[in-house]
Amino acid sequence: MFDCRNDSDVLWHHFKVKLGNVLDLQLLDVLHRRTKPKSKKNKKALPETRDNEYWKRVVNNVERLWGYKKCLQEYLEDDALVSIKDKGSKYMLSKTSKADNVWAVRPLRDSLKSYCAVDTQAMFPLFTILSAGKELSTGRDASTRYVDQRRSYVTLPKSKDYTFNPFLPLDIIDVDSSTTKNTCCTGCERMFPKDEYSTAQLKKKTQLCRVCKCAKQELDNTKQREKRVQRKERSRKRKEYDKYGNSLSDSESDLESDSDCEMDPEREAYLEHLDYQEILADWSRGGCY
Ligand SMILES: [Zn+2]
Repeated sequence: MFDCRNDSDVLWHHFKVKLGNVLDLQLLDVLHRRTKPKSKKNKKALPETRDNEYWKRVVNNVERLWGYKKCLQEYLEDDALVSIKDKGSKYMLSKTSKADNVWAVRPLRDSLKSYCAVDTQAMFPLFTILSAGKELSTGRDASTRYVDQRRSYVTLPKSKDYTFNPFLPLDIIDVDSSTTKNTCCTGCERMFPKDEYSTAQLKKKTQLCRVCKCAKQELDNTKQREKRVQRKERSRKRKEYDKYGNSLSDSESDLESDSDCEMDPEREAYLEHLDYQEILADWSRGGCY
């Protein structure tokens, strides 16, 4: 599977089907990148230490997860597959697809069938690349924890930002079982040792684990970037107005509208992720399967 968390969560909480024996390609990718050669020219694998080139680029020991599309681009370099995936994602995000409830219509339209096919047809080539010459036991053990990570919540944390973000959650690949995990992160609501948090945050009872801190930082940065784009657009329109002296139409003067801004690609991927969860929930509610 590729990022089994939502599928596992939905299958369990809606159908009482407990997914098991998963090998997650998203985790194999993280393990692969930890020792991946630095460049295509330099084919020498990185040593499996915590001070290799990969770890030097990782901030606060929080690793970034790659999406399926990024893996297709990076490892398979198959433009046709990426293009089908792109078209499918755009269509699913469109208002038309939501209004028409396209996943409930049978037969499925061809574009959606191709979109689904890409999601599975690239899995075996990806597996071949990511597993080559590797011992898979670490990936299997991590996948066992990954499949249970989101499913284990009785209720998902209030803030989606700490549950759906592009970072590898703690205690999935590397687990330190020697420490006592007795303090709850106020973001992801998972238990970690006290020394995971800053003293100031513990005092204020607003402690966040390092992954949640990164998720918050990422979101703050995205908001800042969106504001900057809006400001830029506002100033451009003001200049245009001064130059031509034309009065702006209602739609043009709607400067707060997000549609005026180019969406940050990471935010788009993040929203796509949320959308995917909604789709899964819709499937289960609609009883299509
Ligand atoms: Zn957390």
